[in-house]
Amino acid sequence: MTRRTPSADRFGGLLRSCRATAPSVEFRRPVTAAGRSMETPVLGSLAVIVRGVDRRGAHHLADGLVARRSPSEGYGVFTTRPVSRGSLLCVWGGRIIDTARMLTLPEDRRRYAVQIDDDRYLVTPISGLGAADLVNHACDPTALLAGANTLVARRDLAEGDEVTYDYATSDANPYLGFACRCGAATCRGRVTGEDWCDPRLQTVYGDAFSPYLLARIRASREAITGLG
Ligand SMILES: [Zn+2]
Repeated sequence: MTRRTPSADRFGGLLRSCRATAPSVEFRRPVTAAGRSMETPVLGSLAVIVRGVDRRGAHHLADGLVARRSPSEGYGVFTTRPVSRGSLLCVWGGRIIDTARMLTLPEDRRRYAVQIDDDRYLVTPISGLGAADLVNHACDPTALLAGANTLVARRDLAEGDEVTYDYATSDANPYLGFACRCGAATCRGRVTGEDWCDPRLQTVYGDAFSPYLLARIRASREAITGLG
């Protein structure tokens, strides 16, 4: 595994173009937590979630998926039977809040949030926590975003496969930043809120970005074309 610190010119001119289309937001302190993943249990309801007892939650999780210890990152979501490519895996629900409200949340609450627009986050209330909150990031994931809050299988999954997706396809906030140990040959080593600007990732994921990021990507490409 290699680790690297993103540099200002990591993606060259395209990154600058992406930044030009991004909102300007000041964040008071950096957060290094890995988004929805969880390295250590921080809430008493976790044991219930992992046992799969509590399926009420704020989310929809497809049958045949459970949460349990992950070899790569604390806890994760796994299949208990084969799943076909393109199948619906989960739909996240919760409360929609803006960036200002997001910044008032403690770090362990931000783990249960996904960015769904330039200034909107979908965050899980503690009472609604469920196994779907434990989907880990991976740089060569088994799932893809379909819209802003839905995951589908990227390929046929075997029993026991972990459900993962690339956080670069959903989150673009400046406080996203954590070391990745997913083990993929293409592991970026560090995941940041600027990764969506990477042309390689844009090629790999195509339309499987959150709609607000797709809009930014298209705008940045049109800006570059216009400059030509
Ligand atoms: Zn990785």
